[in-house]
Amino acid sequence: MSGSLVVVGTGPGRPELMTPATLAALARASDLVGYGPYLERVPNLRPGQRRHASDNRVELDRARLALSLAAEGREVAVVSGGDPGVFAMAAAVFEAVEQGDPGWRTLDIRIEPGVTAMLAAAAEVGAPLGGDFCAISLSDNLKSWATIERRLGAAADGDFVIALYNPASRARPHQLGKALDVLRARKKPDTPVLFVRAAGTADAQVAVETLATAKEGQADMRTLVIVGASTTRRVGRWVYTPRSERGAPS
Ligand code: SAH
Repeated sequence: MSGSLVVVGTGPGRPELMTPATLAALARASDLVGYGPYLERVPNLRPGQRRHASDNRVELDRARLALSLAAEGREVAVVSGGDPGVFAMAAAVFEAVEQGDPGWRTLDIRIEPGVTAMLAAAAEVGAPLGGDFCAISLSDNLKSWATIERRLGAAADGDFVIALYNPASRARPHQLGKALDVLRARKKPDTPVLFVRAAGTADAQVAVETLATAKEGQADMRTLVIVGASTTRRVGRWVYTPRSERGAPS
């Protein structure tokens, strides 16, 4: 077990949002493993570097491939979008380690942090994550819809700002509508709901709605949705959540 494996995230899209530590790790790698569109964000950094592109669904297979290559002595980088630990490949790698060859536990495995979509989206609109917040993925590939509804209800009852990852996909066009209904039953109709598409890229688009006006069709697979807490508000063209639970200073 002489090779190494590093799991990195490319950030939300713009090259400047990829960290220098991530670029350095990518430049050292002999092999890049990842979903095709994420690999395309990585410039050619080392001659002879091999690229193993795959589709987006087979995360565990991709993790096993990366671990096998590292076990053969290769310097492997697994490439995710955003941050690799947020609904992404870092956890898949450890799932594969837990289930796989016991020798994989002695490999040199490292994770490089990246800029996750939630942070890039928040920065596009102001400071909506200025108070306590949480993140929930609406994908029910790996958990039941009942679990998602329970967590949405708890987050609403706790008055967290809620970042919704994976709000929609072709296979699940109605998840966001159902999630918004859970939140409408517990939160005020004028609660801000932010739709940020392609955050942190030159094509970023922002729509500021409320729970009363938000529609599920406003989100696609490249959208991050932020639902405000009771104190989240507009100031000028921005949206922010004051640091104090008493609201803005008077
Ligand atoms: N590891 C990634 C998240 C993977 S889950 C990260 O840390 O950002 C995929 C979801 O992330 C998408 O469905 C979308 O909700 C969100 N997302 C990823 N990139 C985005 C971007 N540039 N703008 C808005 N949302 C994005």
